[in-house]
Amino acid sequence: MRKQIAAANWKMNLTLQQGEQLIDELFKTSYSLNENRQVVFGTPFPYLTAINAKIAGKANVSVAAQNCSDKKSGAYTGETSVEMLKSIAIPYVILGHSERREYFNESNVQLAQKVDICFEYGLKPIFCCGESLSIREAGTQNSFVEEQLKESLFHLTTEQITGFVIAYEPIWAIGTGKTATSEQAQEMHAHIRKVLAAKYGNGVADTISILYGGSVKAANAKEIFGQPDVDGGLVGGASLIPAEFTVIINSLK
Ligand code: PEP
Repeated sequence: MRKQIAAANWKMNLTLQQGEQLIDELFKTSYSLNENRQVVFGTPFPYLTAINAKIAGKANVSVAAQNCSDKKSGAYTGETSVEMLKSIAIPYVILGHSERREYFNESNVQLAQKVDICFEYGLKPIFCCGESLSIREAGTQNSFVEEQLKESLFHLTTEQITGFVIAYEPIWAIGTGKTATSEQAQEMHAHIRKVLAAKYGNGVADTISILYGGSVKAANAKEIFGQPDVDGGLVGGASLIPAEFTVIINSLK
């Protein structure tokens, strides 16, 4: 079975103390994880070491950075390299979140470079894709997402893409309270898997976890995660509320 993942994206929210308290509260609640069910906390850079220490010893719980540089090292003031993340034992990096694409002009080509550096240092990308409202209204979302995947990922080898993690996040559903219907999510996830299968074969496409992101909350997680091609979620707002995130974790297949 593919890995089912509840990934929290804290974005630029919470102080370290609030983040630690959130995790303490979450650990007090009864959530259920196993080898196939994983939780990932996407925290701000300054907290990665502290949160990594806090979750030490908790099975199937990891941390993720929310970004990394597309350069390996050098005179890039304010940037954080993949090698730096590796040196503090961070296993995951969220790449290509729509907020980074929109506010920091990240392109598909630049993301391909980030993906490559992650592989070079052994970090696992959680690669985000998804269309804007105008693209959805024009009905061209499938080809738009396909292009994002092709330009950023299709140079990867079969070995690299096996077990990869993709997050489909329709921009119109992020932080808006508007969730894609479970049918819309399943339709796009099935499309993504079909595109991956056409390039890498069904066997490989079946190993790739495709998370849904966009206003996932306790009330809708079970139905969305229940879709055959949805392998969990990338969760913003609701991941900041322990009671909500516990229900979301327990809604994983
Ligand atoms: C996100 O930040 O990736 C996200 C999906 O946010 P929200 O759950 O708040 O829509």
